[in-house]
Amino acid sequence: MELKDYKEGILQGNRLILSKAITLIESRHPDHREKAQALIEALLPHTGEAVRLGITGVPGVGKSTFIESFGMHLIEQGRRVAVLAVDPSSQRSGGSILGDKTRMERLSAAPEAFIRPSPSGGTLGGVARMTRETMLLCEAAGFDVVIVETVGVGQSEAAVAAMVDFFLLLMITGAGDALQGIKKGILEMAHAVAINKADGENAPRAEKMRQELESALQLMLPTSADWTPPVLTCSAATGNGLDDIWALIRTHREKLRAGGEMERLRRDQALHWMWSLIDEGLKERFVRHPEVRRQLPQMTAAVREGRTAATHAARQLLFMLDKDRGDKKGM
Ligand code: GDP
Repeated sequence: MELKDYKEGILQGNRLILSKAITLIESRHPDHREKAQALIEALLPHTGEAVRLGITGVPGVGKSTFIESFGMHLIEQGRRVAVLAVDPSSQRSGGSILGDKTRMERLSAAPEAFIRPSPSGGTLGGVARMTRETMLLCEAAGFDVVIVETVGVGQSEAAVAAMVDFFLLLMITGAGDALQGIKKGILEMAHAVAINKADGENAPRAEKMRQELESALQLMLPTSADWTPPVLTCSAATGNGLDDIWALIRTHREKLRAGGEMERLRRDQALHWMWSLIDEGLKERFVRHPEVRRQLPQMTAAVREGRTAATHAARQLLFMLDKDRGDKKGM
């Protein structure tokens, strides 16, 4: 398919073409990658208007239930919702998305929603880069809310926080200590915390935790910040509190817009994207380099067996790239 067919198809909101374009983004084939980059560049003017929402929380906290209810809630208000994920541990093979589809049954059946699970395999940087680019394609395809889910373990929160406008941390009562092993760093990235499963008998406990966490956050976070993350309660199961969360996201957005911060945020996100492309591009060039490929196995073995120092091996291997550049200079 030609670049222009991809572009037109996506701008018309054609889901099949959108999926195919995402497959290009996720491909390791250099031709596909090149085409994908050209497509993104062609579509960039049609991006940037969507609400980019990140959601995190430890497994079991109710992320998929929340995204399903919240997404349906937004669709009822006439919005179109894309759901993406960053999960570097994802072992999805051959494009099977059943796992995620059954998790969000109503949403995945809705024509106003588009659900794409995390790209699988590769480094966190690579997975995050693909998700970010997929987000841009979804925006160009007319989705006005893009939800990016992260699994709530490991480093993926920071990567997601860097690509969204609003980062929501979900928590629940009674799951270990008050912070559920969630490090201060994640709380600092969050624009709001929602205590989920605030329904039935659990509602009073959730409210108690909400108050405690709100006081704790006030102590923990800098008072000078122009946004103090509110702590709310909600129930993804009953839908209670979802309205308040959406209202909060909109308030935050209006604040960003009014202060001219939105543009700065978009530029920061773009810069982050640039560095992730550079990191990935350098690494790729490195492992593809003929001399590196030739020497890497023995170097790896030598370091593993303690025959060569890591510093020496790294320097030798990096030197091969430099040498190559030096040779070309004279041409
Ligand atoms: P995830 O691992 O964070 O995606 O969590 P899930 O969405 O799979 O939810 C984990 C479990 O919690 C499931 O059994 C859900 O039915 C349940 N759950 C999720 N949200 C709520 C809620 O608001 N209230 C109650 N009571 N249960 C919920």
